[in-house]
Amino acid sequence: MPATIIDGKALARQIREEIRRDTEIFLREHGRPPGLAVILVGDDPASKIYVRNKARACNEVGFFSRQEHLPESTSQKDLIDLVEFFNRDNLIDGILVQHPMPKHIDEATIFRTVDSRKDVDGFHPLNVGNLCIGQECLVSCTPMGIIEMLRRYEIPLLGKRAVVVGRSNIVGKPMIQLLLREHATVTVCHSRTVDLPGECRNADVLIVAIGKPEFVRADSIKPGATVIDVGTNFIKRNGKNVQVGDVAFEEAKEIASAISPSPGGVGPMTITMLLSNTLQAARWHVK
Ligand code: NDP
Repeated sequence: MPATIIDGKALARQIREEIRRDTEIFLREHGRPPGLAVILVGDDPASKIYVRNKARACNEVGFFSRQEHLPESTSQKDLIDLVEFFNRDNLIDGILVQHPMPKHIDEATIFRTVDSRKDVDGFHPLNVGNLCIGQECLVSCTPMGIIEMLRRYEIPLLGKRAVVVGRSNIVGKPMIQLLLREHATVTVCHSRTVDLPGECRNADVLIVAIGKPEFVRADSIKPGATVIDVGTNFIKRNGKNVQVGDVAFEEAKEIASAISPSPGGVGPMTITMLLSNTLQAARWHVK
């Protein structure tokens, strides 16, 4: 039987409506909406699209948003000054500095400069550490969106074998922590894993975030598994530019019991979790 397609777009719409309603309540209670500042340095075309989509999502739910577009040549000091300005700004609850940043800027320093209570990307070392020790924190949006997807589709994690392919700081590593928090038994794979297909075949829940188009094939999937495809890759097919995931979707959907497609799966959930984090940060801010 073909898999249930996990519809990230529909889920994102539903959650954004919930956030919009909560924003109205926040506005009534505090006399201002939650506020998000988004900083973009340089002219990376994909980043420009991401920033535009984030601003649009903020408007949709009634947030106040500010976008600062700085030239590629911006110095690290000027960027730090701007982040510190928003750290002090009482109308701003969340700060996001779009990455990748230009090469002359040390991203780790910038992520550390953001006030950890306004760090809606969940990249500040304090938030990363708090996630590891199970304390309240802001969590990286993509893995948080995946947990929310699984929860809303009632896909159990407790006691299940979860395999995460990819160990990046923004997806793989926080994903491992969130799965542990849900009591899954977690295996993490990466580019040096010896038998990747064999590891993947053990997974009840397989989460792939490697950035390699259609790399995971049906023979790496246990029949009946849930597959979450984080990959966002652009390839040429029949003369057209198309977006594909890290999983060969057409064959995987014949063997999985549920699968999130790319596009239309994790992507819309990521921006939605940014909104959710901003609302959470705003609630902490007014306390
Ligand atoms: P990174 O490049 O930071 O990390 C890739 C990870 O994949 C690394 O841990 C790497 O291993 C591992 N890897 C690479 N090749 C292989 C391989 N052949 N076998 C096993 N593991 C491998 O990527 P990100 O985590 O930032 O992103 C991954 C994908 O997810 C990308 O396509 C990205 O565009 C997408 N993405 C989508 C988002 C969304 O909202 N939809 C958000 C964020 C990312 P090693 O550590 O050993 O090098």
